[in-house]
Amino acid sequence: MPPWCLRLLEWYYHARREMPWRGHPDAYAVWVSEIMLQQTQVNTVRPYFERFLQLFPDVFALASATDEALLKAWEGLGYYTRVRNLRKAAQQLVAENKGRLPQTARELKNLPGIGAYTAAAIASICFNECEPVVDGNVARVFARRNLLSDDFSKEAPRRNLANWLRPFISACAAPGDFNQAMMELGALICTPRHPVCPQCPLRSECKAAETMRQEDYPVALKRKALPERKHEVLLLRNAKGELLLTQHQGERLLDGFWELPRRDLLSFPIRRLQKCYIHKQTFSHFRQILTVFTAELPDELPSLPPDFQWCAAPEKLPITTATRKILMQMQSPHLQNHLTERASGSKTSQAAKKRKSTR
Ligand code: SF4
Repeated sequence: MPPWCLRLLEWYYHARREMPWRGHPDAYAVWVSEIMLQQTQVNTVRPYFERFLQLFPDVFALASATDEALLKAWEGLGYYTRVRNLRKAAQQLVAENKGRLPQTARELKNLPGIGAYTAAAIASICFNECEPVVDGNVARVFARRNLLSDDFSKEAPRRNLANWLRPFISACAAPGDFNQAMMELGALICTPRHPVCPQCPLRSECKAAETMRQEDYPVALKRKALPERKHEVLLLRNAKGELLLTQHQGERLLDGFWELPRRDLLSFPIRRLQKCYIHKQTFSHFRQILTVFTAELPDELPSLPPDFQWCAAPEKLPITTATRKILMQMQSPHLQNHLTERASGSKTSQAAKKRKSTR
């Protein structure tokens, strides 16, 4: 094995972080963790992973999970297509392969939601296949080490890098560790900003470190500005204190989630609208800006359409991240005081108007 690979592995065995899925004997658990880790950081994933495995301990439990249980377990992790594909893949495995995961990256790629990177990670970690992973961390490490100017968001440069890495991983007795070592190096040492080169096992052959151009690689790509979607949403409670929620429509990735109703979609009149908060959130393909209003309900409440409901315990439903954050924000003492002050201010000015009109 080349000296740099040995140094990389030695560093990994010494510096790796403890993770609940690392060294897990069950390929199902590794698969779940790899899907969760797509687009999401390790520390965010940890509690979700443990809860998900308690709820759905094996492929069979996942295959028969209800929509509501599944979305609730994933609520807040985002990129919900991942969990829908996870269940679809589990159903395929139960129907076609007695619930067992295939052992090669080529076969794993046939399952919904498993691309080249995830297939290589599962096949190498669980089944010792010598298939290199190329994720953002690995691309950054080798773009710097080898001074590569490619656009690693494209498939061809990722495939070329995997081809370059294949002979090295093939010379290694523990391909899963080799892959995890490269990813861990990118996460802990060769970070996007301020890489810690003096502690890096690849320092002696790294061309970027030699020329002090670490932060010039990978080459930054110009990103198009994301389109903005602006909506007004309502925080409405009935006399019992129940919150009005509606089931999301129009965006496939949020199908099945509950959220605050949009003002323009409400079918009954409301009074005394009060603007109280602006929530901003960036998705992969747009930016969402929600202006939140409180309001009073009409004296007689109309019956609600089927996709609306008064809800006593929103936390029991799968709710969108935006709704969860808005509800948390609304509980902050600062906002509560502000709303109380504004409400009493508006009552005072109404009383003043009334006095004026009766003089
Ligand atoms: S020496 Fe520095 S820039 Fe090069 S791979 Fe290591 S951490 Fe990254």
